[in-house]
Amino acid sequence: MCGIVGYIGQKNSLPLILEGLRRLEYRGYDSAGVALIDGGLTIRKKAGKVSDLVNLIGNEHLEAQLGIGHTRWATHGEPNDVNAHPHWDCNNEIAIIHNGIIENYTTLKKKLQQVGHTIRTVTDTEVLVHLIEEMYKRCNDLFTAVRLALLEVEGAYGILVISTREPDKIIAARKGSPIIIGRGDGENLVASDAAALIEHTRHVMYLEDGEVACLTRNSVVTKTIHDEEIIKQVDEITYDLEELEKGGYEHFMLKEIHEQPDSIQNSLRGRLLVNDGTVKLGGLEPVMEKLVNTNRILLTACGTSWHAALVGKIMIEQLAHIPVEVDYASEFRYRNPVLQPTDIVFVISQSGETADTMAALKEAKRKGATVLGIVNVVGSTIARGTEAGVYIHAGPEIGVASTKAFTSQLAVLGQIALLLGRKRGRLSQEVGKALAADLASIPDKVKKVFSHEAQIKYIVEEFKDVKNFLYLGRGSNFPTALEGALKLKEISYIHAEGYPAAEMKHGPIALIDENMPVVFIVPKDAIYEKVLSNMQEVKARKGRIIAIANEDDTEVEHIADFVIRVPRTYSYFGPIVNVIPLQLLAYYMAVARGCNVDQPRNLAKSVTVE
Ligand code: GLU
Repeated sequence: MCGIVGYIGQKNSLPLILEGLRRLEYRGYDSAGVALIDGGLTIRKKAGKVSDLVNLIGNEHLEAQLGIGHTRWATHGEPNDVNAHPHWDCNNEIAIIHNGIIENYTTLKKKLQQVGHTIRTVTDTEVLVHLIEEMYKRCNDLFTAVRLALLEVEGAYGILVISTREPDKIIAARKGSPIIIGRGDGENLVASDAAALIEHTRHVMYLEDGEVACLTRNSVVTKTIHDEEIIKQVDEITYDLEELEKGGYEHFMLKEIHEQPDSIQNSLRGRLLVNDGTVKLGGLEPVMEKLVNTNRILLTACGTSWHAALVGKIMIEQLAHIPVEVDYASEFRYRNPVLQPTDIVFVISQSGETADTMAALKEAKRKGATVLGIVNVVGSTIARGTEAGVYIHAGPEIGVASTKAFTSQLAVLGQIALLLGRKRGRLSQEVGKALAADLASIPDKVKKVFSHEAQIKYIVEEFKDVKNFLYLGRGSNFPTALEGALKLKEISYIHAEGYPAAEMKHGPIALIDENMPVVFIVPKDAIYEKVLSNMQEVKARKGRIIAIANEDDTEVEHIADFVIRVPRTYSYFGPIVNVIPLQLLAYYMAVARGCNVDQPRNLAKSVTVE
């Protein structure tokens, strides 16, 4: 999940690589480094952020038309200067940067040490550069040496390799970690993410697992690691650089929270047919018959996407009457799931690169189920690995704590549920129209929640020094509670738990006293009265209550200490609106506590390791 950038052309590669790394820094920020070839091999690397690397280089005049750069998210070896990438061979000739994990690195390391290699760091990555060095001795060709080395590697990688002996090429390879090649005029680029390329070119080639590429200034040759040449198509990136920038907001997360009226609208656009009371999802057309006739749907995902899946279960079961199971992808992949050929498995991932979700996809495929994707990043590995699917179209999400991808995932799951309900004859056109109209109204309802931002900041002042938070909700707002708690944990480091409100009395109620803030998500739905009773139980034990309640609710203010108002929606779609104040609460809480919102400790966007 680190960031990778490489450049070969006529320009000085260094500023270009540093700028690319800055754009990718959200992917990993333990350390950063560059390797340049201009005659010899120059390496500069530093623990910390890209800005620390920039400071290290200072005014040093470094110029090279070939270079590679990396931001690390450490898996093996602490994040210090020595373990930072790039790593190099015994002779200072070959340099490597790597995203992923070389699983058999200890065995390889022993073998290499036995034949005389000196390995300086404890990383898995350094072992690979020595293995390439060893292979180079046999074939004297970098492209071949990388291929041969990779044949011996178990694990996941996206790598770039350069050598002073062949100073006119970059070798790139992937298995499990994204590598995108950007085609330029007299120059070529390569990166782990389009964000680093888009300023220079829109013409890209996606490397697939098991493929290796050799980039020179004017050419890109691609092969499989087994030496079969392959011709790759060139795709065009259509989104803009501004979409990747902060647009005047202090943090990406705040920008993305505020983008939600638009991003949800984009998830609905061209799909929601309000007048017909149904939905059109072109991406699912090829599998529609199977989908409509299935007896079981499985939703599998990680983190915030898993919370979306929990809401999706309720949507699909209630509207389409198909039994739905939800699983953490990391559990699904190892629990030998029982699947029937008629089962439909949806894998849900913002980045489309989540390692566990990808593995769940493979497992479900292996067992013969139909595997479909709900993904944000177009052309991502999961998007390409599924039989069909739906893009959520939320636009690039940079903030590590997912916000707009969550609400767009819900908008898509809601549409799938409505479509299936209609197709299976469970919903009349009239009901379909009412549901579609409700979904269509959500972007405006989300906008209305922003008018309470000042109140949320005020509430934050009251609670910013607490150590724990409880989030309670029922039905589709139980997952909303989980998501609210997760946001708070991720960025403000306050311990928080989400619970079904009625379960509180089976344990967590023991935690309630005057120091425990409890957030209730309490819309006026079928179980409203029950949740009010749960609130009374907290009140009776002096817990301090923040309620997320509907605008027309006049009872809740008599129990809660603070009430944040949200417009009413159908209960299935409620979480899309109800989660907004929770995102803002977590955001302002983190800001008030001086936390780095866009780069929360120990976390990284797009978890491409197991
Ligand atoms: N496993 C490698 C390391 O710990 C690469 C980690 C990454 O993807 O940044 O150095």
